[in-house]
Amino acid sequence: MKQTNLFTKTRREAPKDEVAKNAQLLIRAGFIHKEMAGAYSFLPLGLRTLNKIVNIIREEMNSIGGQELHLTALQDKQKWEASDRWSDKVVDNWFKTTLKNGSEVGLGFTHEEPITSLMKDHIRSFRDLPVAAYQFQTKFRNEERAKSGILRGREFLMKDLYSFNLDEKAHQEFYEKAKQAYIRIFDRLGLGNDTYVTFAGGGSFSKYSHEFQTLSEAGEDTIYVHEGKRIAVNKEVFNDEVLADLGLSKSDMVEKKAIEVGNIFSLGTRFSDTLGLAYKDAEGKSNPVVMGSYGIGPSRLMGTIVERWSDEKGLIWPDSVSPFAVHLVALFDAAGIVKKAADELYIKLCSQKDANGRPIDVLYDDRDCGAGEKFSDSDLIGIPKRYVISAKTLADSSVEVKDRLTGKVEMMKI
Ligand code: ATP
Ligand code: MG
Repeated sequence: MKQTNLFTKTRREAPKDEVAKNAQLLIRAGFIHKEMAGAYSFLPLGLRTLNKIVNIIREEMNSIGGQELHLTALQDKQKWEASDRWSDKVVDNWFKTTLKNGSEVGLGFTHEEPITSLMKDHIRSFRDLPVAAYQFQTKFRNEERAKSGILRGREFLMKDLYSFNLDEKAHQEFYEKAKQAYIRIFDRLGLGNDTYVTFAGGGSFSKYSHEFQTLSEAGEDTIYVHEGKRIAVNKEVFNDEVLADLGLSKSDMVEKKAIEVGNIFSLGTRFSDTLGLAYKDAEGKSNPVVMGSYGIGPSRLMGTIVERWSDEKGLIWPDSVSPFAVHLVALFDAAGIVKKAADELYIKLCSQKDANGRPIDVLYDDRDCGAGEKFSDSDLIGIPKRYVISAKTLADSSVEVKDRLTGKVEMMKI
């Protein structure tokens, strides 16, 4: 993409009321736009990165047998009454609205009820199981505090997968596979070293759920980390009984701030019982389906990556999620020699393939502005590799390659 065709502009200052580092940098670099507190639009650069995060999650969900679908955001009150989650007294973050005929509908903050209900049309016998289905969808939550930029939106993207199994044993096997897939996702997003599988409250069907917590001062959660074992315990369940149960000793645990980037949960028959999802076994006897839910927040993840990978100059994208692989920055001369060479190099680069056989995405700064402005914008946008082409580099038939993370510079023959 030529930067002269990119409609977004960088800016020196973030909005005055924006306190979160992730939102400040993403707004300044033109990745997102703040509509109001807790609601952000994704601009072309931001959407490219968000889509890369989504695709990594999609690949890993497909690898464990997940089938992608798309449920409605509008929610049928009846189904939520059946599971006793419609009342504002039970769920305090519903957005609800009223239809022209006076009946109420909700905007989904999660999707256990509709998917359990939908599966009644498709799961009848033991032969129909197991099933794992997932979606990427905008969720709506009337969050009390929305000061953390895209870490906590009132409208945000979630990947939610739901598993349906014959019994607890089959469920546990799938749950473990999902946990491993989650670990691979955070590795691929550049968050592997900072993300801990964290024991958290399990609800009525299992002792624990597992959260995936990324260490960060911007986090709203407090966890206790065991460095050696690479596991953690959420403060909410950090007590002597839990420590004994997990074979951990308090003196080995270090308190840290963290961002909850994912959460996997055993649901037992909580929803299949209340919504009537059952299968007939080989003897023809009816049994409730055993369920699990597996959430991850692509938009929160994008904010988490920014909190982790940025410096005073701007964003620093890991290769896997950068909006472009290469930022080609041309410093034009009056004679037009650099322009011609840079245009040619741009076309050449775009026809190259990366190690996975995918075309290399190039952002080409072909704007008519000074080197200082180009470099500071390039630092702010944070593409991992910058190729500078100028009269000086051309004299040596080269480009200067600068690594955004390390700042290392080397010359490379065109
Ligand atoms: P939190 O305790 O931070 O409110 P949660 O326990 O409510 O999170 P879940 O209901 O488990 O979160 O949602 C699954 C995933 O969706 C979370 O792990 C997180 O990545 C993401 N998520 C949840 N709430 C938000 C939000 N308000 N904005 C952005 N992402 C969110
Ligand atoms: Mg919440």
